[in-house]
Amino acid sequence: MQLIKNYFPSLSYLDPASEAEFRLYLVASTRHIAQRLALVCALLLLVFSATDIILGDQWHSLNNLSRFIAAALIVSFAVYNRRLTPDHWLQGWLAIAALVLLLLAVTFYSSAQYFGKLGEGGPLVVAFALAAIPIFNLQQKLLLWLQLSASIVFLKYCTDTNTGWTLFYLSITLLLCLSWQRQFDILLRSQFKTVRLEQQKAETDQLTGLLNRRSFEQRLQEKLQSLQAGQQLSLGLLDIDYFKRYNDHYGHLDGDLVLVQLSRLLSAESGLLVVRFGGEEFILVEQHSADSPSSLLQLPRKLAALAIPHQNSPFNVVTASIGIVTLNYPGSGYQSGQLMHQADQLLYEAKEQGRNQARQQFLS
Ligand code: GH3
Ligand code: MG
Ligand code: MG
Repeated sequence: MQLIKNYFPSLSYLDPASEAEFRLYLVASTRHIAQRLALVCALLLLVFSATDIILGDQWHSLNNLSRFIAAALIVSFAVYNRRLTPDHWLQGWLAIAALVLLLLAVTFYSSAQYFGKLGEGGPLVVAFALAAIPIFNLQQKLLLWLQLSASIVFLKYCTDTNTGWTLFYLSITLLLCLSWQRQFDILLRSQFKTVRLEQQKAETDQLTGLLNRRSFEQRLQEKLQSLQAGQQLSLGLLDIDYFKRYNDHYGHLDGDLVLVQLSRLLSAESGLLVVRFGGEEFILVEQHSADSPSSLLQLPRKLAALAIPHQNSPFNVVTASIGIVTLNYPGSGYQSGQLMHQADQLLYEAKEQGRNQARQQFLS
């Protein structure tokens, strides 16, 4: 069982959660190409029919009718699928591919009847067309290729169609395609891992592992947009008190440890968006019920309770001050710059009033 699993990169290369994430990434990055490719396939089917008609076949022969239906299926799904979720979109195309293969088996049969034998070209082109589809993985394509082979075997043994050489060439082609697709599956996943790692590195702060300033803007917008009636959004700007003195007395390495301890405290708060804004300043965003006070108000008390010694502070322990702006639903009318400016002003007031405290303002 493990041996079989190892052969298929989609089952073994990433953990299940990452594989699901990869599927979303793959659909997002290849949706347009896959869509265009499908339309090209539909066009090719019509071109093949046109050639057969020029060679004397009737337009309404079984051969041509099955191609027309296949092309119509592809085009209709390409038009219909815009609103589908990535997973349904993938499953939809898989079902369409299986149906088109079924119709093509009819085409193979009737054109073999018309021309006396089945040329190798048609099934091989179909096998390669499946290989070119970027969205299916190895086992999905394997199923489609098996379906294609089964239809040729069926024609050989259950009808009077001669498909001996076709089967021979198709088997060799499929062996090559399988090996190629396996490497392709691995390459795509390793590229996804690299992209994800780069993205994480760009968005996180190296010392604390928190989100950095760069990724803040978009996440704040998401929080503002998703605010619901009866909720409030609080944005806090938190700054460690007398931190320069801490560094001067204990050294920068111990200062770094304080930043890490504070980050852990902030990350442990549930439902809080925590961003290291820079230096010893952090941004915190919380959605909470309009009936309850923001948990950000408690942060100075919680940090002081950690009792990290700070000899050069009047509090004798590491403390912080925070400026908090709180706004009501709907949040979509607010700009992040305006909120940050206000929070910064409140932080300044908290510092002026003696530090180790929170200052809050409600925006109307
Ligand atoms: P205040 O109470 O007014 O905030 O005083 P402060 O000393 O905390 O404020 P100030 O802005 O003057 O100093 C901030 C200090 O934070 C200066 C810098 O040495 C320190 N700092 C900034 N980033 C880091 C860091 O990554 N690691 C360490 N160890 N210190 C840092
Ligand atoms: Mg500062
Ligand atoms: Mg400070």
